[in-house]
Amino acid sequence: MKANIFRFRQPIIATFGTIFLSFLLSVSHPYLHKDTMATSNSLVAFTETERGFAISDGVDSNPMEQTKTSLVASTAYKTTKAFEQYKPRYAVAKIDPSNYGDRYSTDIHGKTLNNQPIAVLHETVGSATSAINTFRTPQSSDQHQSSYHALITLDGMIVYLVPSDKRAFGAGNSVFKSSWGIETVQTNPNLPASVNNFAYHISLETPPDGRNKSGNSYHSGYTDSQYKSLAWLLALSSIPDERITTHKNVDLSGNRFDPRSFDFAKFLEILHTYRQPTAG
Ligand SMILES: [Zn+2]
Repeated sequence: MKANIFRFRQPIIATFGTIFLSFLLSVSHPYLHKDTMATSNSLVAFTETERGFAISDGVDSNPMEQTKTSLVASTAYKTTKAFEQYKPRYAVAKIDPSNYGDRYSTDIHGKTLNNQPIAVLHETVGSATSAINTFRTPQSSDQHQSSYHALITLDGMIVYLVPSDKRAFGAGNSVFKSSWGIETVQTNPNLPASVNNFAYHISLETPPDGRNKSGNSYHSGYTDSQYKSLAWLLALSSIPDERITTHKNVDLSGNRFDPRSFDFAKFLEILHTYRQPTAG
């Protein structure tokens, strides 16, 4: 059953092209419309000024309209009625190109890469707006470049930041331990190996009582809307449950603990109401 999603092993472009097909065709759809992103004028029309990022509400770029496509594209899972009924708000924020890059098909030693995608969950620690502003700031130093593919605000809105076929810089110095062994990829000789080349990074906006606290502390947790939007977003992908992880779990630096106070069991329960494995 799960063999279906591993059908396209190489090259990685084909892998991501397949596994993230639903993203490309639906949730990241606005990125494919250069008109939407190309000029500040067109962005102004969709700007939600109090938050400071672009919001798209056009019918033709509404990811919900593409949901049926993702149903067909995903062979490992099928989405449910509950998935169809949940319609999260979404926005698209343009971030600085220095904060993300291409996904590589080989590592720095020329080895062909065939990692299957993982999803890595984070929290913003600051506000969503402050995270977006950070990613909008050009960073010339490799060490300071950072981004997520998407973040989810406290009220459950999904903000798309980096297209799924690009490499967001969400977790430096990291490994994913799977049943296949240790997975990590070095694509930059100046930086440690990381999971970024095969990761889809999603961050949850931290509640006010957890803002700007460092270390392994706790806070009041995430809203029901955030859990639902997160599950909805991942239900669009074919990333299996066992390849959904946290920054804390992949981190090797020893100082990443996010997302703190995340209820993984609650998340999985909602995810399973939004998608189910296809039979055979
Ligand atoms: Zn993180």
